Amino acid sequence: MIGRDLSGVYSSLLYRIIRQGPEVPWCENGELYMIELIKADLTSLSVDAIVNAANSSLMGGGGVDGAIHASAGPQLLEACRKLGGCQPGDVKMTAGFNLPAKIILHTVGPIWRGGRAGERAVLSCCYEKSLQLGLEEGVTSIAFPSISTGAYGYPKRQAAVIALTAMTQYSERYETIICCCFNDSDLWVYQKVMGTLERRD
Ligand code: ADP
Repeated sequence: MIGRDLSGVYSSLLYRIIRQGPEVPWCENGELYMIELIKADLTSLSVDAIVNAANSSLMGGGGVDGAIHASAGPQLLEACRKLGGCQPGDVKMTAGFNLPAKIILHTVGPIWRGGRAGERAVLSCCYEKSLQLGLEEGVTSIAFPSISTGAYGYPKRQAAVIALTAMTQYSERYETIICCCFNDSDLWVYQKVMGTLERRD
């Protein structure tokens, strides 16, 4: 059974997906996992892990990457320097340094080139590999920005479908997965896509 409960959290909508069933022995009070859609600055979140939409150099940049480096402090750049870059679709890890988040998972999204250059597969990998590495590191709460939808130009709705599809595949293994939208219009896109995915279920 899937239900949806709307309540005010972080002054935006919280989507709570509830699954029940004998196939999940650790189900308690019918509540198993959550995907939260919020509007916030990713760097302000007190979670186990935040995901950075980095570039291949891992040496910092604009957008969310710049905000993360600015808030984490110069030690982050030092740590990133030792990682040897990161290929699109891959993920590398550092500490969170001055951020409230304990760790940062740096992933590199695809640059949008019209949709026929494998962008979808690469973006899926960003989410799946981040979620997989998070699990391996004992992360229980993780927050994502909308990877590739800023400077890299990925269409927002298509990107949200990819993000939420990957998150629902992993959501039973996390306490909380957060889609951290930076503005109202991005939040609205995620809300619309979430509704579509729920109806398919
Ligand atoms: P990319 O190069 O992968 O497109 P960007 O940083 O340009 O990365 O944009 C990715 C997304 O992150 C965009 O939706 C942008 O609005 C959002 N964003 C930018 N700054 C922040 C922030 N501080 N917190 C959360 N999201 C952010």
